[in-house]
Amino acid sequence: MSETIDPARPADPAPLPDAAVPEAKGTAPKRKRVVIVGAGFGGISAARVLEKSDLEVIVVDRTNHHLFQPLLYQVATAMLAPTDIAQPIRSVLDCTHHANLSVLLDSVEAVDKTSKAVVLGSGMRLAYDYLVLAPGSRYNYFGNDAEWAPHAPGLKTMDDAIMLRRRILMAFERAELSRDPEERRRLLTFVVIGGGPTGVEMAGAMAELAKATLARDFRHIDPKSTRIVLVEAVDELLGQFTDRQSAYTKETLEKMGVEVMLNAPVKGVESHRVMAGETAIEAETIIWCAGVSASPLVGQIGAETAKGGQVKVSRDFSVPGSPEIFVIGDAAAYEEDGRPLPALAPVAKQQGKHVGRLIAAREGQGRDPGQFHYRDWGTMATIGRAAAVGKFGKVTVKGFPAWLLWGGVHVAYLVGFRNRIMVIVNWLWAWLTYAKGARLITGADREAPERLPTKG
Ligand SMILES: Cc1cc2nc3c(=O)[nH]c(=O)nc-3n(C[C@H](O)[C@H](O)[C@H](O)COP(=O)(O)OP(=O)(O)OC[C@H]3O[C@@H](n4cnc5c(N)ncnc54)[C@H](O)[C@@H]3O)c2cc1C
Repeated sequence: MSETIDPARPADPAPLPDAAVPEAKGTAPKRKRVVIVGAGFGGISAARVLEKSDLEVIVVDRTNHHLFQPLLYQVATAMLAPTDIAQPIRSVLDCTHHANLSVLLDSVEAVDKTSKAVVLGSGMRLAYDYLVLAPGSRYNYFGNDAEWAPHAPGLKTMDDAIMLRRRILMAFERAELSRDPEERRRLLTFVVIGGGPTGVEMAGAMAELAKATLARDFRHIDPKSTRIVLVEAVDELLGQFTDRQSAYTKETLEKMGVEVMLNAPVKGVESHRVMAGETAIEAETIIWCAGVSASPLVGQIGAETAKGGQVKVSRDFSVPGSPEIFVIGDAAAYEEDGRPLPALAPVAKQQGKHVGRLIAAREGQGRDPGQFHYRDWGTMATIGRAAAVGKFGKVTVKGFPAWLLWGGVHVAYLVGFRNRIMVIVNWLWAWLTYAKGARLITGADREAPERLPTKG
């Protein structure tokens, strides 16, 4: 096969010069530049403050969308469509009306503190006066990333959710085709690792999908016989909630048909096999919802880090020794009252807003926000239809009221009016009919292409 050569494009393009981003319209040349890495909860909040300032603001993200991660599991289990929980970054930020703001679709590969520039995947170097690092976190396989991750994908990006949805739905389709009872059993076994909010939500949603939505859709298998196992290393689920709420969560999941294995630290993950404590479970689909660690990007800025790789930031979120670099959100280790703030969306949002205001104030564009204090509105987790738990200081709720509250809070936090309406409509429809409208099998499985059915 011959390769087409574009004469207009040099075979080996010269590297782009420093700060090679074209000057945004209406931006004065001497304006200070703030580069924000990551358009998640933290980065977007900082950018929303700074877009109103006179500073030049450049947001770099390796995806073109802001993602509402708390509802990713609903995409993976076909309740919601990908477009319901994501919005293009260019529309989340007001690029139309703020000429000082640019968005770049690229990944930041390195930070050069000496020359105050970030190096992008495209090869461009982008100079900064202030740098806000908000690249979030990734799943942590307790030192076994290379061996376990390929067999137990986590749920972090939209691609992860679409790939998992495909694997889950394909498992039912392949079980319907299989005539081997052992293979069918394996195909209809799903293991969720991690008994925190994401694992609980995922296991509950899987149970609803298998035992209600798909219950009568197949002829050769009984989806109600699907085995869903939730594996947790310690002796309770949802450790951050009260003992009664943890017990309620376990009981509710078990009523929904989920097998809960406590005190079962995962000792090994192989293709189609999990070693949970001393028990081996054969399963086609294994989903990792256990610990997270900070994005590796922040590990290379030479700052002291906590156990999970988060940068130990100063009281103003700057990196000690580099007052112009800030780290926020899941990538930062920040303590209040002697305890680290959790990796949660409201924490990242509040930190982003604070750092945005701080930078603006340093450039004489607003009042100093003073010392940061996290405003804790409480924590919630949903288990399934009409079942959730919530903890607001000393006040706890569970059951239907908690579930309503959980729904309201998540809709309020979603970015975009259209997304809010779509999510409410989908939830109402599912509530009335048990149907899950996004049951499409699309794309190819990058990680396991052999899972596609073959002829013969
Ligand atoms: C499945 C799941 C469920 C969750 N449920 C809840 C919940 O119910 N409630 C709650 O409060 N929190 C929840 N969280 C946690 C919450 O989503 C995070 O705490 C929050 O997203 C952290 O915000 P952040 O800005 O630090 O990072 P993120 O929101 O993760 O954003 C990071 C951004 O940086 C980009 N990025 C990363 N590396 C680079 C790079 N090198 N170059 C360019 N761009 C980069 C990413 O594409 C992403 O857009 C959940 C998380 C997950 C994964």
